[in-house]
Amino acid sequence: MSKEITFKKLKNLLKNSYVPYSKFPVSCIVKMKNGQEIFGVNVENASYPAGICAERVALPQIFALGLNEKEIEKISIMTSSTGFGSPCGICRQFISEIIDNNVVIEMFNINKHLGDFKIDDFLPFQFSSEELK
Ligand SMILES: [Zn+2]
Repeated sequence: MSKEITFKKLKNLLKNSYVPYSKFPVSCIVKMKNGQEIFGVNVENASYPAGICAERVALPQIFALGLNEKEIEKISIMTSSTGFGSPCGICRQFISEIIDNNVVIEMFNINKHLGDFKIDDFLPFQFSSEELK
């Protein structure tokens, strides 16, 4: 999937966000190695902390669909920012549990592709299951 196609899909997906409070849509596509795409958008709530980010809408579906997280090819994220709207701290931790540093995280803002990153770029020294041993 080219960056241009991903950009269009993410931008179209922004329309599905439920953001009556922030008016700040975010979309996420998790692409599996078999080509399957899993979509997520942010969903807000009148009780603000009950809202959820696009990344944490998309990624859990892998498990619900019976897929293996090792089969994730890449994660593509678009915010409606004109700057660098990066994943929030909770999502960084959440993503770090599911993917390793080989998985590309493509970042887009409302206008363009911003770059390809790894989870270690966003969350170095991440807390992991290793800490619990
Ligand atoms: Zn988040």
